[in-house]
Amino acid sequence: MREGSVSAGPVVYWMSRDQRAQDNWSLLYAQSMAVETKSPLYVVFCLVPRFGAAETRHYDFMIKGLSETESRLRARIIPLQVMAGRPVETLPAYLNDLRAALLVTDFDPLRIKRDWTKAVLGQVSVPVHEVDSHNIVPCRIASQKAEYGAYTLRPKINRLKDNFLTEFPRVRKHPFNTADMLKPVDWEQALRTVKCAASRTQVDWISPGFRAADRMLKDFIRLKLPGYAETRNDPTRDGQSNLSPFLHFGQISAQRVAWEAQQSGAPEPDQEAFLEELIVRRELSDNFCHYHADYDKVSAFPGWARKSLAEHEADPRPYLYPESRLESAETHDELWNAAQKEMMQRGKMHGYMRMYWAKKILEWSEDAEKALSTAIRLNDRYSLDGRDPNGYAGVAWSIGGVHDRAWPSRPIFGKVRYMSEGGARAKFRANLYVRMQEEEKRDSP
Ligand SMILES: Cc1cc2nc3c(=O)[nH]c(=O)nc-3n(C[C@H](O)[C@H](O)[C@H](O)COP(=O)(O)OP(=O)(O)OC[C@H]3O[C@@H](n4cnc5c(N)ncnc54)[C@H](O)[C@@H]3O)c2cc1C
Repeated sequence: MREGSVSAGPVVYWMSRDQRAQDNWSLLYAQSMAVETKSPLYVVFCLVPRFGAAETRHYDFMIKGLSETESRLRARIIPLQVMAGRPVETLPAYLNDLRAALLVTDFDPLRIKRDWTKAVLGQVSVPVHEVDSHNIVPCRIASQKAEYGAYTLRPKINRLKDNFLTEFPRVRKHPFNTADMLKPVDWEQALRTVKCAASRTQVDWISPGFRAADRMLKDFIRLKLPGYAETRNDPTRDGQSNLSPFLHFGQISAQRVAWEAQQSGAPEPDQEAFLEELIVRRELSDNFCHYHADYDKVSAFPGWARKSLAEHEADPRPYLYPESRLESAETHDELWNAAQKEMMQRGKMHGYMRMYWAKKILEWSEDAEKALSTAIRLNDRYSLDGRDPNGYAGVAWSIGGVHDRAWPSRPIFGKVRYMSEGGARAKFRANLYVRMQEEEKRDSP
């Protein structure tokens, strides 16, 4: 990112996307550089008062996870410092005061982190090294261009996967830090600097942090991975791993999850189906956002989809809903309403329903531009795992044919793949799913 010889002096790891104290290549790299020059190692996290559509449910999840990370780092005599404010307002002065010799940070394809990094780079002269700790095959190594679909990325990943899908070394007690560097973070005070909107409902079915993530992973491997290939697409069965909130905040490493799944002895087709989602589909999303800076705009859709959607822009819509009606789950379609309620109440919608949900937003909006912005806003606001490349790619797949192929043309959708309520009802017990969301609503505080 910024090369230059690294002199002896403190190494700072600016943790952002990968908020964990183990199985973290950025931290391991920062530590190895500090050990090489016999220097202290510091970890900093910049806590911004607002982050896109994130609300208190997201900040709570993140901050509780970070507080566990702080304890784990402490056990390795590595301090974590939380700095309130935008990185460009806090990091440069901190690096100068410390006379830091190197800044290490997490790779992140989203614009907000790219802009932060660029602004910080403009203010500091230390070398800055970026490490991709989120992907198994690092995004830039997997492919040097925007991929057309899973079918073009898959062979590239498969060629490289065995070099990267390994066990992790352990983070050591840092030999050049001292106990007096370990000032505890005042989490109450940190939370007071946050100015985001309060969530209407809190999420209580999932606990944040690495320990909870690890428990969820172990339960998934034991109970749900055998059978995953079949059950994951049925929204009435609890067949998915539910790991996406942890993966989003980097509280667990995708490489750890893939490694454990691969060692599990679960039937081959189930392992394959799971690793396809966790590695190929997830890394395809990072590829999409990294090579399309306009990942949340219609301009990132493939040409055939843009043309075809434009040709059908004037088609009459059977229903046209303002965003407020969608948000409050008041459409004529009880299946769609149930999906919206699932996302609002639980902070996570089933993967199959996410596709149906976004495609119906296209069907009921004036045009693709409006549909895209509505779907992104709602997903980012209510999903714990929102504001993630997977979300931008998933919505773009549903509404704009990204990573998909052209289908026979039909009203409104043009050549973008269509999903019908009848099709969904033929696939699973839709009435049961609707009842499940009603019951969830009755039970929520
Ligand atoms: C409209 C739409 C919006 C979406 N929004 C998000 C989002 O905001 N955040 C998010 O993480 N995912 C999103 N997805 C992708 C996918 O639906 C979720 O990752 C998955 O349902 C998360 O649940 P899980 O962890 O239980 O998944 P599992 O089935 O257990 O899969 C394990 C992991 O594989 C990855 N994965 C699974 N399916 C996909 C996929 N289709 N694309 C990319 N990665 C995948 C995720 O990291 C997931 O955690 C979206 C998909 C669509 C169609």
